Amino acid sequence: MNQLNETHDPSLTSWVASANQDSDFPIQNLPFAIVRRAGSQEAWRGAVAIGDQVLDLAAAAASGVFTGLAQQAAQAAAEPKLNSLMAMGPAASSALRLALSRALRSGADAEAALQSCLIAQAEVEFDLPCQIGDYTDFYTSIHHATAVGKQFRPDNPLLPNYKWVPIGYHGRSSTIGVSGQSFPRPQGQTKAPDASEPSFGPSKKLDYELELGVFIGQGNQLGERIDISKAEDHVFGFCLFNDWSARDLQGWEYQPLGPFLSKNFASTVSPWIVTLEALAPYRVAYTRPEGDPQPLPYLSSDHNSAAGGLDIAMQCLLQTEAMREASEPAHLLAESNFKYSYWTVAQMVTHHSVNGCALRAGDLLGSGTQSGPEHEQAGSILELTYGGKQPVQLPNGEQRSFLEDGDSIIMRGYCAKPGAARIGFGEVVSTILPAKP
Ligand code: MN
Repeated sequence: MNQLNETHDPSLTSWVASANQDSDFPIQNLPFAIVRRAGSQEAWRGAVAIGDQVLDLAAAAASGVFTGLAQQAAQAAAEPKLNSLMAMGPAASSALRLALSRALRSGADAEAALQSCLIAQAEVEFDLPCQIGDYTDFYTSIHHATAVGKQFRPDNPLLPNYKWVPIGYHGRSSTIGVSGQSFPRPQGQTKAPDASEPSFGPSKKLDYELELGVFIGQGNQLGERIDISKAEDHVFGFCLFNDWSARDLQGWEYQPLGPFLSKNFASTVSPWIVTLEALAPYRVAYTRPEGDPQPLPYLSSDHNSAAGGLDIAMQCLLQTEAMREASEPAHLLAESNFKYSYWTVAQMVTHHSVNGCALRAGDLLGSGTQSGPEHEQAGSILELTYGGKQPVQLPNGEQRSFLEDGDSIIMRGYCAKPGAARIGFGEVVSTILPAKP
């Protein structure tokens, strides 16, 4: 899954013309989602993005174009959730990717049969791509951990375990929604540093977190840990992930057991899952800064050092209600990159299972907020505004210390470099509603 193959050839073009024109979804990408025609009562089913179209995998599986393992994978992808496809493991999704690449190429014989399996992306709606049984959020950006640590614990920002343990907490899957999600501002307990008692009310410090989501493919049995040399075989693919956070609730509740109600009122994923195989051209070396400890042996391998990192640019944008009403575009708050992560995806998977914990197909791992080394690359507004002290100025004259009702946060991701096709993640957008009375 780590090797370049014919599906990555940057010279490939598709008979779907829009895929060849500066799209997030050229033929080298082929991400998966769950769709149906917007407003219809059609069955949800899997689809692959190609240009400004989606290829309906239920229709494609019935078309007779695919054979063998690729056809079995297409049939699994035709279900209302992608868990079955995910559980089949990397050989199946890779076989389907190769068959899709060949069938969607310019000049392919399959064009006639697959034309009728296309639906315009503008005409579909999305559901969560899979049943997410469990959700774990990691904390893999040392830049985020340090910047946030300074605010919560000025004299002790980075805790001593950080460089040894891929830190995480168990989140909750019931409030994870797909792009387009809106949710009421959470309420809860907060306590100002100078107050003698906590008070109750709507959060005043609502924030986003710019994260990469990792979907588990094949799982592992209880008690059988996943060796780092096999860890990537358990990864199906990636989405963009906004881990909404209420900082004032978090500051009061997080010790000693970590985040709780400050995190589980809403989290939003992008609809498309970009497979690990599609990201093969964008692997980068994984190194530790000079003077930092090397990972323990169970978190280390030659492959992980040589190519365990991923060069994925990640952007976060804000569109306020006033901007929306004036038809003004969203404002770029920050751009970061997953290559700055202190831990790799393989290390997250291996560490999560090292105690015997069973992962299951469709489980979601959040990467943690992906802040880069520079202040401008911060993946949360908490960092951008230094805890609300230096508000962000917006082009229309508005400013934000934290997020307000009606604000929409948009996240985008893409991979680009000379000699490889640019591929994108699409976007995840979600909007804050007023607190419920
Ligand atoms: Mn998070």
